[in-house]
Amino acid sequence: MLKQPQIFLFFINRLLNLYDFRQITMNRITLKDKTFKTSIPYERISEAIDAVAEKINQDFNGCEDIPVLLCVLNGSIMFTAELMKRLTFNCQVVSTKLTSYVGTSTTGTVKQAIGLTADITGRRVIVIEDIVDSGNTIVELKKILEEKGASESRICTLLLKPDAYKKDVKLDYVAMEIPNDFIVGFGLDYDELGRNLKDIYVLDK
Ligand code: 5GP
Ligand code: MG
Repeated sequence: MLKQPQIFLFFINRLLNLYDFRQITMNRITLKDKTFKTSIPYERISEAIDAVAEKINQDFNGCEDIPVLLCVLNGSIMFTAELMKRLTFNCQVVSTKLTSYVGTSTTGTVKQAIGLTADITGRRVIVIEDIVDSGNTIVELKKILEEKGASESRICTLLLKPDAYKKDVKLDYVAMEIPNDFIVGFGLDYDELGRNLKDIYVLDK
């Protein structure tokens, strides 16, 4: 049986938790000339990565090859790190760097700034993307992987903006869908700032 002081402490604790929660959801940050507000707290990101990792494990567990996890620098570094911790089959991490965004909008042209860091000929590749927006980057990636002789390529993205995505490329693993707004945090940047933020923030219009 709970005694009166314990009940009192329980409610104080609940109130403090509520207060913490408000602080998280009300948090605002400024990067250069723009203000952002918290949109997706780390706990929700982590749960979404758990779910997507489970699907990948179901598809790859017991495989006899060593699939390649292709980390698309720089935006996917945090997602790749969190995802690979949860994968239960042998895999190799390879990187490449593609650029298309300047400030808060896409230039429409995707450039490969760093080529693939290993030979992927005859290998199954899982592309690890931070976010799929117009889809230009993954179309370019699929082309590169085919040219480089991958036996198969799948796309895994932390985030998808369904209203912006206009391509036919199949998105094999999508952790979360978000509205068509500019976001930063968890690897994603605004002019190279904000990648280190643990939560995801959205531009405060
Ligand atoms: P896409 O080629 O699909 O239009 O865009 C893909 C790349 O653009 C992503 O990998 C990411 O680097 C960048 N990007 C797209 N949307 C956003 C966004 O809302 N915030 C940030 N920081 N980068 C984005
Ligand atoms: Mg990216």
